[in-house]
Amino acid sequence: MIPPGSTIGILGGGQLGRMLAMAAARLGYRCHVYAPETESVAAEVSARFTHAEWYDREALSEFAADCAVVTYEFENVPVAPLAAIPAERLAPGTRVLEVAQDRLREKRFVEELGGRPAAYAPVDADHELAGAIERVGTPGILKTRRHGYDGKGQWRIASAHEAEGLRVPNDGLVYEGLVRFEAEFSVILVRGRNGEVRFWDSPENVHEHGILARSFLPSAPIVAEQAAAARQLSEKIAETLNYVGVLSVEFFATAQGPVFNEMAPRVHNSGHWTIEGAVTSQFENHIRAIGGLPLGDTATVAGKVEMANLIGEEANRAAEILADPAAHLHLYGKAEARPGRKMGHVTRVG
Ligand code: AMP
Repeated sequence: MIPPGSTIGILGGGQLGRMLAMAAARLGYRCHVYAPETESVAAEVSARFTHAEWYDREALSEFAADCAVVTYEFENVPVAPLAAIPAERLAPGTRVLEVAQDRLREKRFVEELGGRPAAYAPVDADHELAGAIERVGTPGILKTRRHGYDGKGQWRIASAHEAEGLRVPNDGLVYEGLVRFEAEFSVILVRGRNGEVRFWDSPENVHEHGILARSFLPSAPIVAEQAAAARQLSEKIAETLNYVGVLSVEFFATAQGPVFNEMAPRVHNSGHWTIEGAVTSQFENHIRAIGGLPLGDTATVAGKVEMANLIGEEANRAAEILADPAAHLHLYGKAEARPGRKMGHVTRVG
């Protein structure tokens, strides 16, 4: 167990890091944030901030030397420079990053474990595009293999001619068939250093323009029916990768059973409701897991919980939200409310 008073390192400086640092502080830890951006909403609530590039090995080594354990809040941290951090001090490790940073590798990995992603075809070069669309069929979505998030790096394709003339980037694309889902949901689990796994209830998630808008419980009956199979796959993923910490896996609930969408090796936006809606939040359990502490109870504390994101200008509704006694407001302290930017969230319990 990492004793209270120790320093926990967080790679990445956004709101997930901020909420991890706040949970860590409650357990008596100090946090040290490492991020390439000059401004970090995680660093603002942490004891130390290293502002340096991902490929600055010297800065990474110095950072690691200051930390009892290092975690990440951003799944696109480049893997190569992480060799500067002793492997036993990094949780989760680098194996899951290698899988989750590449949509194609991620889908193949999940298939090997018995999971089912949407129909897909890799597109490595321009001349492969038409064939991939023909094999999978339309409508579908073209996605970059790397660095996509919140609907970025995605193009909906209604008919094959829409993709004519499209240039395939160096890292390649994956073409996915559009899944006719009845609901979207996520499995959020925590795995401790001793291999113990706990799950939170699976919320139903609603996306707007590729960005999560709301997560809520209870979810539609179809989610409750398919959660067990989705949990089984998610646990297998965690075990195969000897994962430590919170792992998030997104699914589509379809008439043919759960379809794997993608995973994130970190705390997840669809788990923010756990701060007030569960006995132990995803943030606290992530800190407990990487710190080698006993895991906390993941039970939901009320019959109804809803988390809504505050995107862009929606954060201007803060005063109105605060006037609602049932609302728990979280603002991330971001200076500029750009369109599509996650500025905060609000959770209502009961
Ligand atoms: P992603 O970043 O890949 O999770 O995509 C963001 C959102 O776009 C998902 O949560 C879905 O709402 C939608 N989406 C992505 N891929 C598909 C698909 N193959 N079929 C249907 N909807 C999709």
